[in-house]
Amino acid sequence: MAHAVADLRSILTSGTLGEASREDVLGFAISVGDMLRQSEAAAIELTGVIEKRSATAERFDVSSDCRSANEVLQRTTGAAPTTVKRWSRLVATIKPARVLPSGEEKPAEFPALREALTTGAIGADGLEAATRPLREIKDRVAPTALTEVDEVLAAMTTTTGAPVMCDTLRDLSLRLATDLDITGADDDEEKAFQGRALRLGIKRNGLVPITGQLVPDVAGALSVLLDSINNPHGQPAGVKFRPSDESDENADVRTMVQRNHDALGTILAAVPNAPDMPTNGGGAPVLVIHATEDTVRAGEGWATIPGADATGTDVPVPFAAAKHVGCCGTIQHLTTATNGRIVKLTIDKRLFSTDQRCAISVRDRSCVIPGCHTPARWCEIHHVTGWAQGGQTDVDNGVLICWHHHRFIDRMGWDIRMTDGVPEVRPPDWIDPTKTWQPTGPRAAGRPKRGA
Ligand SMILES: [Zn+2]
Repeated sequence: MAHAVADLRSILTSGTLGEASREDVLGFAISVGDMLRQSEAAAIELTGVIEKRSATAERFDVSSDCRSANEVLQRTTGAAPTTVKRWSRLVATIKPARVLPSGEEKPAEFPALREALTTGAIGADGLEAATRPLREIKDRVAPTALTEVDEVLAAMTTTTGAPVMCDTLRDLSLRLATDLDITGADDDEEKAFQGRALRLGIKRNGLVPITGQLVPDVAGALSVLLDSINNPHGQPAGVKFRPSDESDENADVRTMVQRNHDALGTILAAVPNAPDMPTNGGGAPVLVIHATEDTVRAGEGWATIPGADATGTDVPVPFAAAKHVGCCGTIQHLTTATNGRIVKLTIDKRLFSTDQRCAISVRDRSCVIPGCHTPARWCEIHHVTGWAQGGQTDVDNGVLICWHHHRFIDRMGWDIRMTDGVPEVRPPDWIDPTKTWQPTGPRAAGRPKRGA
């Protein structure tokens, strides 16, 4: 064994590997693979032996001046504790046949894979790949079925001269395991269902954390929705206001996770308008935001959302959130006397009707901000002239806009105006220094690019 180690060392220290021929490099890789798998097999076997003898009166660990079998292996091999733990876990999956204290004989687990390991056909990764799917089902299927699977997998490791790839072993093992364990799907689902969860945390640093675990079909449904909103037409195309130096300043600078967040906001804003939604006290479930008349007049400061996090209390939010929600909702103006009595209550209905929404959707098709292709069904309707400035809830004052652009319309510096009932947009000056009004939607698509 010392020869093999010395050979390997001399190849590495000679520094010739970098200039070696392709064949030599590949040949060396194959040899290293052989040695790696055999060394791992030895380490796993050794772990089993040391653990077993440490559990007997011999106390192999203590008599070697160590506190545990794991420490013996760390000291002798230089491996990390987690690596030794992995060896230990793998030993447990291929227990040899043994006689229990009761005299009963316990058959070997995966004897064929054990042989594949000891003969160097697979290493630690291969053994893990082959046995992991089987460990989950082994208590639920007949031992004879498991023996067959063990043999099929082991045969797979020697079909070609080359080592079998771990992914191949894992796929086959998973397929065999699911074939055997048909009822397991229900058991698994039952167990998984107990763990399903969705929780809102407590607002910190301006954000409410959300945690949970989704069953795969719910996660899949969410993922499909997020994708359809984030990427409505595959790669975004269409008109872009690009300065002539071709820099991509108009590109969406949001990260993928930020886009997912905004897409969830879009979904949640669309849901209450869906037909047959459950109602809350007779009306659609509505998000309620409170702001004082002073804050509304100033257009800045704090508003509050009751029950927006796990505290269940009024959670402060920036006024921009109230403005966004108020643009397409209902606003109640409530004047109270000092003793709390309601002196005056007026209600502004700012919801566009279904018919108005249809008409606006046909006109605008998607979010009116250039480069954003969020389709009409996922858009909100923005009052171009705000209610406070006398803007009405009619088609000549409403444009399609996505959740993200609606929320940050002021901060991003886009201007929108209506000319003869048709929306036009003006980019912020960092996108278009000339600040020229541009057509939107289907009318903009046929327009030659600026500078062209
Ligand atoms: Zn948009």
